[in-house]
Amino acid sequence: MNADLMIAIDGPAASGKSTVAQILAEKLDYLYFDTGVMYRAVTLAALMRNVSIDDEPSVTKLTEHIAIDVIPPTKEDGRVYTVLLDGADVTWEIRSPEVNDFVSVVSMYAGVREAMTKRQREIGLRRRVVMVGRDIGTVVLHEADLKLFLDATVEERAKRRYEECLARGESVPYEEILTSMQSRDTLDSTRKLAPLVAADDAVKIDTTFMSIDEVVKIALRLLENGRTT
Ligand code: C5P
Repeated sequence: MNADLMIAIDGPAASGKSTVAQILAEKLDYLYFDTGVMYRAVTLAALMRNVSIDDEPSVTKLTEHIAIDVIPPTKEDGRVYTVLLDGADVTWEIRSPEVNDFVSVVSMYAGVREAMTKRQREIGLRRRVVMVGRDIGTVVLHEADLKLFLDATVEERAKRRYEECLARGESVPYEEILTSMQSRDTLDSTRKLAPLVAADDAVKIDTTFMSIDEVVKIALRLLENGRTT
C-alpha cells in the first residue's frame, strides 16, 4: 500500500462516512478530519451572535472574525474530537437541531465556502489524512488518492440518526429527523457551488444494507489493491 495518501470520503448525513473514516484513520494512523464541523461552527456563531442567517455578507464576514479549532477529545463523553469556537467547547452545540436546520444555507455562501475550503485544503495537502464531507473528492482534495462516495436511503439514514439520539438520551421524533435530513439533502445536492455529488472517479457504495465493518473492508481492499485514483 502506498504511504502518505489523501483519502476523501463524501456522502449525505448518516451515510456512514464519519464512522468509516474514523476506523480507517485509526488503522492507517492518519488524521481524521470532519469538514462538516467547520460549517456547523460558522452557523452556530451566527446564531449565537444574532446574525441573520439570510444575511450573506454578514455571515461571510463572520468567518474572518471567528476562530475554529478541532483538537483531540478533551472529555470522555463519547466525542471523537473537541471543537472550539473562539476557545469555547461547542462540540455538542454544533449538533443541535437548530444548527442542522440552518447549516445548509450557510454552506451555500461563496465566501464561507472559500474560507473553509482554503483551510481544509491546507490540512489535507499535508497527506496521511482521511477527510470527510460533501465536496472533498470533487473540490477540496480533488487529487485525492482514494475517493469513496457513501450513500443510503434517506429513511435508513434518518433511522440511524434517530437511534444515535436515543443512545445519547435525546428524544427527537423520527419524522422530524427525516424531514430535516431531506431538506438538507436537497439544499446540499442542488446548490451551485460544490454540490453534494460523487466525483467521476469515486467508488460509490450503497450502505443501506451494509455494516460499517463491511464498508471498511471494501475500503481497505481498494487500498491494498492499489485501486487509487
Ligand atoms: O457532515 P455534516 O452533516 O456535519 O455537515 C453539515 C453540513 O455542512 C452539510 O449538510 C453541508 O451543508 C455542509 N458541508 C458542506 N461541505 C462539506 C461538509 C459539510 O457543504 N465539505
